[in-house]
Amino acid sequence: MKHFFWTMIYTLLALALCCGCSIQDRPGNADGGQGDGADGQQNVQSADTPWQYVDTAMGTVVQQTVYAPDQETAQAFSAQAMELLWGLEQKEISWRLDTSEVYRANVTSGSEGGFLLSEELAGLLESGLELSRRSEGAFDMTLGSVTRLWNIDEWAAENGAEGFPIPSREELAGALSVCGYEKLRLQREAGDQEEKGQCRLFLPEGMQLDLGAIGKGLGLSELTSMLEGQNAVTGAVISLGGSILTYGSKPDGSIWKVGIIDPFDKSSNIGILSLEGQWCVSTSGDYERYVEVDGVRYHHILDPKTGTPAVSDVRGVTVLLKDGLLSDGLSTACFILGPEKGMALAAEYGAEALFILSDGEVVLSEGMEQYYTAIR
Ligand code: AMP
Ligand code: MG
Repeated sequence: MKHFFWTMIYTLLALALCCGCSIQDRPGNADGGQGDGADGQQNVQSADTPWQYVDTAMGTVVQQTVYAPDQETAQAFSAQAMELLWGLEQKEISWRLDTSEVYRANVTSGSEGGFLLSEELAGLLESGLELSRRSEGAFDMTLGSVTRLWNIDEWAAENGAEGFPIPSREELAGALSVCGYEKLRLQREAGDQEEKGQCRLFLPEGMQLDLGAIGKGLGLSELTSMLEGQNAVTGAVISLGGSILTYGSKPDGSIWKVGIIDPFDKSSNIGILSLEGQWCVSTSGDYERYVEVDGVRYHHILDPKTGTPAVSDVRGVTVLLKDGLLSDGLSTACFILGPEKGMALAAEYGAEALFILSDGEVVLSEGMEQYYTAIR
């Protein structure tokens, strides 16, 4: 099934070339978007044009638009950004790679001694648990046994796939019985004023972590810190599948334009967000990753109550926040919760949200209105 993934990559590369965006190391179109470059700029080569890079990490395409004084700086930054994302995947959050901390934690499921967490993963799990509580369990990082049953990682991102075995009711019931964020235990030793105490994770027998709903957002948060810790790159847009980071500014002072995909026609945008400076924009949608079996479409956002694709009157949710981890987690939670409860949850976090409903209506939080322009 890796075939689907690579087909997707080649298609994207071809698309980018056709659109006049250059790949790797040449100036090209500006701005990000879930769809094509959103602001219709011409591909004029000048000092004001950014450098563009395309690669893959975390099972998705990474597109970087980098404003830097010269090619060498842009290239060095882009390589460092990819190292960061690969490192995050390999050392911290992948459940597949035996080099990662999540993998090693999952192995200790059911053990009495639990697993001593790094401060990074402890903080991540604490934020995730808080989101689970606030979303009444809509967001749940303990669904690993169920997501594996569905084989979500093997589905082709964006293009859909066919012919995967659909789990039976019995299989789902068995897998679900070992899930549930309330059963996961984090135990912190007492710390002092300067340092928090160490944190130990206890996973009940069979429970497996899946951080798929926040991994890309975590990547954006760490890329933000990386950008803030340097001053050679003055502006950037980095897109990791459905999660996009804007940072800094363009030399001409114009603002970032981030396209929002139309779930009813993935080749076009339904609207544009106009953003200044640093933002994280995360989208969760039923069109992003799915499989079709016997004419039925199954998507990748699961209802933790049933273990099956969430039945929602929403096709896609976009969340806007400074923090990447939370914008990513919130977009997943909001998809399951729907517009009413989802808006309330986003507001609790000071996030703005945009819901595209099944009938095509677009519902915006009040604060989102200033950023959003409908295309039609
Ligand atoms: P996203 O695309 O950010 O909405 O995240 C979806 C991914 O998160 C899926 O591919 C699963 O790996 C995982 N996932 C699915 N349903 C949930 C859920 N209810 N809570 C947390 N993670 C989930
Ligand atoms: Mg998410």
